[in-house]
Amino acid sequence: MKITAITVYHVDLPLEHPYWLSGGRLKFECLDATLVKLETDAGITGWGEGTPWGHTYVPAHGPGIRAGIETMAPFLLGLDPRKVLEVERVMDLSLPGHLYAKSPIDMACWDIAGQAAGQPIADLMGGGSRTPRPIASSVGAKTVEETRAVMDRYRQRGYVAHSVKIGGDVERDIARIRDVESIRKPGEIVLYDVNRGWTRQQALRVMRATEDLQVMFEQPCETLDDIAAIRPLHSAPVSVDESLVTLQDAARIARDGLAEVFGIKLNRVGGLTKAARMRDIALAHGIDMFVMATGGSVLADCEALHLAATIPDENCHAVWACQDMLTVDIAGGRGPRNIDGHLHLPEAPGLGVHPDEGALGDPVGVYQ
Ligand code: MG
Repeated sequence: MKITAITVYHVDLPLEHPYWLSGGRLKFECLDATLVKLETDAGITGWGEGTPWGHTYVPAHGPGIRAGIETMAPFLLGLDPRKVLEVERVMDLSLPGHLYAKSPIDMACWDIAGQAAGQPIADLMGGGSRTPRPIASSVGAKTVEETRAVMDRYRQRGYVAHSVKIGGDVERDIARIRDVESIRKPGEIVLYDVNRGWTRQQALRVMRATEDLQVMFEQPCETLDDIAAIRPLHSAPVSVDESLVTLQDAARIARDGLAEVFGIKLNRVGGLTKAARMRDIALAHGIDMFVMATGGSVLADCEALHLAATIPDENCHAVWACQDMLTVDIAGGRGPRNIDGHLHLPEAPGLGVHPDEGALGDPVGVYQ
């Protein structure tokens, strides 16, 4: 089987509500999505998506994905998409780094491999759990009142897991954490996501002031060096996501005991092939996981769900799905959707959901 054509679409995905990252540091209203169609000489078509969380979140942006694919395309045409490791090597040789530009290609290859094998991707990867995965909300808010309002909106849709964005003003963060914990319902999973918003000193002030609550903080500071430096000085559990980009990062976090949880975002780490190795490092070191797309449509949510399904139920805290935050649906309601705050693994071969091609507009790149 050979890749015969790569078609690239650029789609704007507006958010239903303007989004505040890190307790109000950054605001954006629309996601820049890149959808990629891989065609093969076997008549099987695979789809991938790369949708960074705005252009200011991590070093990744929509135009960069499209430029990266343009650069890699001549080297990808003619490869067998089922040989994901070979495709990965060719991408890494033809464009070092730029992992976020590679994830949509990797995703489309897994989609084709699954369809060719007649299996969902998670089963092809070795076996997917059918236990529905709780979806974590994304509570971007600034004040105590706004935080309550956003969480209530999600609870009404069945959500039992919440990622509350903090990392702005220290006193306000402490107040928001204490308020959320005071109204936390039994069984709810709550993660306080700092998105690198604190200095070491600010992180320690909040972590010590809330020590009695033993809540989990995600990415409290900018770098792994920062997280390592404060680690002996507080007792709060930590999740690392933005600083978990490469397999070397995963190895360091595991070896040095820097976190209890990996937040694996598939677009950031370069796709399923690379993320599966991080999963294995986590499991070998007693580290649990959140699995997420970086953002995007139901396709991106579905990719994250497949990886989450390959993690033992007890080690997978939640997935995150962006679909409930968008005002457009490029897949006409198909694919895994929020059912009482959970996603169910699709049984169709491959990814399990494709977009309505007619809803994507004209392609911005065709390579063949
Ligand atoms: Mg995070």
